Amino acid sequence: MSSIPIPNDFNKVLYQPLAEADPEVQEIIERETYRQFRGLELIASENLTSLATMEANGSILTNKYSEGLPGARYYGGNEFIDQLEVLTQKRALETFDLDPNVWGVNVQSYSGSTANFAAFTALLQPQDRVMGLALPDGGHLTHGYYTAKKKITASAIYFQSFPYQVDRSTGLIDHERLKANANLFKPRLVVCGGSAYPRDWDYKFFYEVAKANGSYLLCDMAHISGLVAAKEMNSPFEYCDIVTTTTHKTLRGPRAGLIFFRKDREADIEARVNAAVFPACQGGPHNNTISAVCVALKQASDPAFKNYAKQVRANAQALAAKLFSYGYKLQTDGSDNHLVLWDLRPIGLTGSKIEKLCDLVHITLNKNAVAGDTSAVVPGGVRIGANALTSRSMNEKDMEKVAEFLHRVVEIAGVLQKEAGSKLLKDFVAKATTGDGEGRQQLKQLSVEVQEFATKFPLPGVPDSASIKRFPDAEE
Ligand code: PLP
Repeated sequence: MSSIPIPNDFNKVLYQPLAEADPEVQEIIERETYRQFRGLELIASENLTSLATMEANGSILTNKYSEGLPGARYYGGNEFIDQLEVLTQKRALETFDLDPNVWGVNVQSYSGSTANFAAFTALLQPQDRVMGLALPDGGHLTHGYYTAKKKITASAIYFQSFPYQVDRSTGLIDHERLKANANLFKPRLVVCGGSAYPRDWDYKFFYEVAKANGSYLLCDMAHISGLVAAKEMNSPFEYCDIVTTTTHKTLRGPRAGLIFFRKDREADIEARVNAAVFPACQGGPHNNTISAVCVALKQASDPAFKNYAKQVRANAQALAAKLFSYGYKLQTDGSDNHLVLWDLRPIGLTGSKIEKLCDLVHITLNKNAVAGDTSAVVPGGVRIGANALTSRSMNEKDMEKVAEFLHRVVEIAGVLQKEAGSKLLKDFVAKATTGDGEGRQQLKQLSVEVQEFATKFPLPGVPDSASIKRFPDAEE
């Protein structure tokens, strides 16, 4: 066939590559690529996905509407989308070793938050009672977060929430108190799983509490689903009614959500979950994202992923051990999973200060509440995840180097705090960014060393990291 000419009228833009069609956006993407390459990504909820996942995510499947389910759509032209969705469901069940007679899965959620709200919608009536781990104790916003002044998320606005907490001295979930409170509160739903909990979960305990109170049990395994898939952590499937997850944390896929539902306890649960996703909470599925989830699930089922997950845990533990060797306090004294919760209060620092300084030296992490913090706005710690750096092929030795960088950040923070002569964040940041003292000089030196170290490791998704465009104006 001879080639089909590209029109030169108003449709021409439809055929231009991004660099030509929109150099401004292209440059932002290139700058972000460089940022990811030259920095150390320690945010526990992020990862660096594969080239194939990104190709699928950026594919022509974005064009298609497919409201409904495979074989029962509200739009025509869905024969291939049906194949894709069925394949994704099959792979999702296989990835977690689930019997399709017992478990089903909805793969249409746009993200973890929408997956959770859809699951709540499927299980609960408005104003039903829920119990999840409190946000300042490591839970997620969507598990019923409220403050003294405000019901923050829809999960607290539309349902009655009464959180459980961790023990103030150990940082571990206070099981006894949770049980006693559940016996009084009689939640319709108990939620396990969290965003900043460094230890494994006792799902049998949660099941027993739920059973004693006639509650549903939902696990949000968003953070650890890659480790569960690789059998590196306990599986929630034996005990839970519903399991939700994001697909972009340890599972290393695109940004999306999955809802697994147990079919052998309630006959209509499948219909309720599916109807909760669409039409109750969402419209048309994002088929490009679903195809990327499908690719990521294939990769997570590969034996190589098991090695990745093992290494994630070994790296988190190596990082924890090294921080420990400097005398720092870690919540629960260590980690069973991919993350470490570093309590900065004993050294007189806040999470905000360390997050800010780390940013200045191209180490990305986030401030986080630690046990006993009363405010999520001025938290006393930081959360550190090993998942992204493990995707960059780093091992235990490399994580020790990362811990050494973090130790130097703390030392520099001490210098800056003295120079600022006050404990206020704004004075501290001013010294770090525009000061002419020793602290700022040390930060600059550390920034150079971090970048030298990070750029030795390839960036996933980029076939040749040496080709990544550098931006001299961003050098510091
Ligand atoms: N659930 C947990 C446990 C999470 O940690 C997160 C996000 O970090 C979510 C749900 C929300 O996911 P998303 O940001 O995709 O909505």
